[in-house]
Amino acid sequence: MRVKWTGTELSFRLDPEDEITGRASDDHPVKLAINSCSIGGVPDDAHPDLFAVAAWTIVAPWTRKRITFDRAISAELAAAIHDGWGIEAGPVGTEARRAGKRLAISYSGGADSVAAATIYPEAPFVHFRRVAHPRIPNRWSHYRSDVLAKLAAKTGRELTTVTSDLEFTLAEPRPGYPEHHAVAAGALLLADQLNLGALGFGYELGSRWLGGGRYLWRYTPDNRLWAPHGAWGTLFAAAGVHIVLPVGGVSEAVTMRLALNSGLKDQVRWCLRGTDGPCRTCGKCLYKELIQAAVERRPLDTPITADRPAARKWQKKPPYGGQEMIEYGLARVPGIEHTLFAKALDYLDATEQSTSWLDHCYPKAIDEIPVRWRDEATEFITANVGFMTEDEVRRVETWGS
Ligand SMILES: [Zn+2]
Repeated sequence: MRVKWTGTELSFRLDPEDEITGRASDDHPVKLAINSCSIGGVPDDAHPDLFAVAAWTIVAPWTRKRITFDRAISAELAAAIHDGWGIEAGPVGTEARRAGKRLAISYSGGADSVAAATIYPEAPFVHFRRVAHPRIPNRWSHYRSDVLAKLAAKTGRELTTVTSDLEFTLAEPRPGYPEHHAVAAGALLLADQLNLGALGFGYELGSRWLGGGRYLWRYTPDNRLWAPHGAWGTLFAAAGVHIVLPVGGVSEAVTMRLALNSGLKDQVRWCLRGTDGPCRTCGKCLYKELIQAAVERRPLDTPITADRPAARKWQKKPPYGGQEMIEYGLARVPGIEHTLFAKALDYLDATEQSTSWLDHCYPKAIDEIPVRWRDEATEFITANVGFMTEDEVRRVETWGS
């Protein structure tokens, strides 16, 4: 793989051994659509390691043996790519590795992201906004990135909005981040300008420790994507931007509660379809509604019925993605047996007691935050959430086994 930046426009060329269909770090197959993209709202003179990591978040799935950057990187960065992926990276120069002092939040506006932001009230936001690619037709106009960007601007926080068409480098399964970390490509290029030493993401307990979402359903202390000692954590740290997960120890019930009780509650938006509010009819809206109803201890309020596509997976047997939250909801939402979740209720044996661990923080998640930013998180969690007991910790560490 050869990458070239022209200003903040990236183009890349595959080597003979590279492949059009590759795998992202979570093992999901991804197919390349086009070999160029650009990033707007960022400076063009960042440290070479920042350009390299930003490019790597986009081209990693398709790279087999080596990557050649258009400017020399530090030896530490080359080592991180080699150790994490088995890929030879270069050229290596004599430039010192970079460092910074501030933590910024990679802000999406979803409940998890808002909760992360609440823990660091002084942290600036970097918001990624999808824009159209000049050479790819946009068949996904229902995705309202403009609405999310406007909401982000209303938070009152110091905000930098990055615009990019990098998601259109992906043909399949659909436009999106080639690697989950590509959401940070713009934040990386801003790191020198904003003096960033860390970037906070809204990934919660399920994503970091329980193998949730697209990943395997098991306890994942060595999570390749989000553990500080994983391939990506090591790579970002080598470029002087530590990955921090402020809500990595708490469930989506806690992030929902924190977000809805925060000063940013009017800007919370997890659905990418609606304009005046969430669409209420997509799978994500349904999942979040279950969690919100559980947190607010009220009946489920949804127009979705069991025969709708968004409800289909809950008519099947578990395991489900985010199953811990399904159990949490089933145990708490009044009248859930009369909803589209009735089948799931038959399969799962969840009680308030068996799911109470999801109301507290897994302590190792705070331990892995770098010292400079740890105390603030500890204080917040102690005051607003509370830490898990030993028994509750065991629930995390035996999840899926
Ligand atoms: Zn929706």
